[in-house]
Amino acid sequence: MKVYADHAATTPLDPRVLEAMLPFLGQRYYNPSSLYPEAKAVRAEVEAARRTVLELIGGPGRIVFTGSGTESVNLALRSAVSECDGDRKRILVSAVEHHAVLGCADSLAREGFAVECLPVDRYGVVSPDELKVRMGPDVSLVSVMSANNETGAVNDSAALCKIAHNGGAFFHTDAVQALGVFRIRAEEAGADFISVSAHKIYGPKGVGAMYAAENAPVFPVIRGGEQEGGARAGTENVAGIIGFGRAAGILNECLEEDALHLGKLKRIFLDGIESIPDVIVNSPPGGAPHIVSVSAAGVEAELCLLRLSMAGVFASMGAACNSSSVEPSHVVEAVGVPAEYKRGTMRFSFGRDNTAEDVSFAARELALAVAKSR
Ligand code: PLP
Repeated sequence: MKVYADHAATTPLDPRVLEAMLPFLGQRYYNPSSLYPEAKAVRAEVEAARRTVLELIGGPGRIVFTGSGTESVNLALRSAVSECDGDRKRILVSAVEHHAVLGCADSLAREGFAVECLPVDRYGVVSPDELKVRMGPDVSLVSVMSANNETGAVNDSAALCKIAHNGGAFFHTDAVQALGVFRIRAEEAGADFISVSAHKIYGPKGVGAMYAAENAPVFPVIRGGEQEGGARAGTENVAGIIGFGRAAGILNECLEEDALHLGKLKRIFLDGIESIPDVIVNSPPGGAPHIVSVSAAGVEAELCLLRLSMAGVFASMGAACNSSSVEPSHVVEAVGVPAEYKRGTMRFSFGRDNTAEDVSFAARELALAVAKSR
């Protein structure tokens, strides 16, 4: 039996998405900026995909296609600070942001911004009251993720955004993990910038999108041609964009069903691991339905995950982009996992195609792997 339980790292490509993409890797290879009718027809498909992604995000703003969720985050953060006056030099980010945000914030810090981390609770949630205390007229940008990629903690983006706006700052939310399991409703949340990525919603890798609200500035990070309305130079990844559009369209139809299914799987998994001694769950009740983070005392996560993969269960320690490190992640540190549990932190993330049988199997194999690893 093989159970893929690493959907927070990436999701399998939906066969319907692949089918939609294939013509654009074959006979419809035209550059969407060219003038003849075949190329204009490709342009029309790119624009249709843009509308579908915008519809899924649910706002009146604009979509800029990028090369990844990471690039979207960089574009959003740099856009947000691009027009700030010299008095707004503070940037507030949560302590558990993905490295996309932390890395970009770090580069802004080297350019003279003061970056401060907002503390989180034991699951990774930022308290709006905490943000209120730290806001000030010198803050240009607040960036807090919608759902955390390691614990599944969910933030109240609308409340956080309101506080940022009351202080005259822009608000960005990294919704890369949230997009597949929650209705983003950009208009209601009020965010100025939202970052998303196709490969977390059964779309292709290498394509992301940044949502910018109607009056938000957009500062191109990648310079060159006039593609994406001048916001992101470079010939479009047409097949990727078409795939993103198709994946967004499918998700728009089945998001609630997916979330319900994932919630049930999560319950079964949590019940299945309940009897394993000295294991704590780092994912909050009511968090993202696809993510379960657990920490087992006296266990090296890497060894345990290796045993699991030999048994056919594929899971990870946390963020996939950090998997070369066996040290506990910044998220594990920030949520305060007790010392004896830290190194035994593992993330299981389920998807649309997983079954109850899959998660029961994963839970049983986790119990065995933990016992053997101790
Ligand atoms: N933000 C979060 C919360 C993520 O989980 C990820 C990917 O794991 C990213 C950003 C980066 O997205 P991408 O892999 O498309 O660069």
